[in-house]
Amino acid sequence: MRYALLADIHANLTAFNAVLNDIEHRGGVEELWCLGDIVGYGPSPCECIEILRKYKHISIAGNHDLGAIGKVALSDFNPDAAYACRWTSQQLSTADIEYLGNLPNTLYRGDFTLVHGSPREPIWQYLISKGSAQENFSYFETRYCLVGHSHIPIIFRQEEDASCNLIPLSYSIGQVLGKRRMIVNPGSIGQPRDGDPRASYAIYDGDSGVLRLYRVDYDVGATQTEMTRKNLPVKLIVRLEHGL
Ligand code: ZN
Repeated sequence: MRYALLADIHANLTAFNAVLNDIEHRGGVEELWCLGDIVGYGPSPCECIEILRKYKHISIAGNHDLGAIGKVALSDFNPDAAYACRWTSQQLSTADIEYLGNLPNTLYRGDFTLVHGSPREPIWQYLISKGSAQENFSYFETRYCLVGHSHIPIIFRQEEDASCNLIPLSYSIGQVLGKRRMIVNPGSIGQPRDGDPRASYAIYDGDSGVLRLYRVDYDVGATQTEMTRKNLPVKLIVRLEHGL
């Protein structure tokens, strides 16, 4: 069975559609595993929820999903993110709000724990350093953990001496998920921050144990035009073309 690992779609419909087409093109998957932040920042929150719900999928909640429905305080966000959250909450239908409100903070699938931020703090903690990743291995029991939130594709691997190694996830190079415990971030679909503006996602093949990262070109300008039309913050519009 193959699964697509999707994180931080952030209401970027053009990027999301490009990724879904790419998955189809690669033979499809059994299920989509969404790691939160379906909405926030981007111009098409309702459309992204609607499309995701058409697929067989599981999803956890991200900080922006909860911010948009008033479950976390907007004072916890930076001003641009808070503005976009407020705008998003005005777009959502009752069904959208109910869907986001029912997303769990943590999910389990076989060898995987799924959280948005980190196992220790599922909603807010960013895992970007070896130190923060290392302490988090004691906060989940499965062999692997999938995270989003930082928008940076990366693997943290726990070594035999319990130290932590950082393995960059590069485009289309398969990574066998072996016996060592790992925390994996497939990068962001809707707002990549590793300097590569292409949408980022991964496919995990449960039979071979191989996880493969993919980067997908999409029409960044189309998303930017839509954001301008909806009067979203300029900084959020500009950053998409730099992937930062
Ligand atoms: Zn995010």
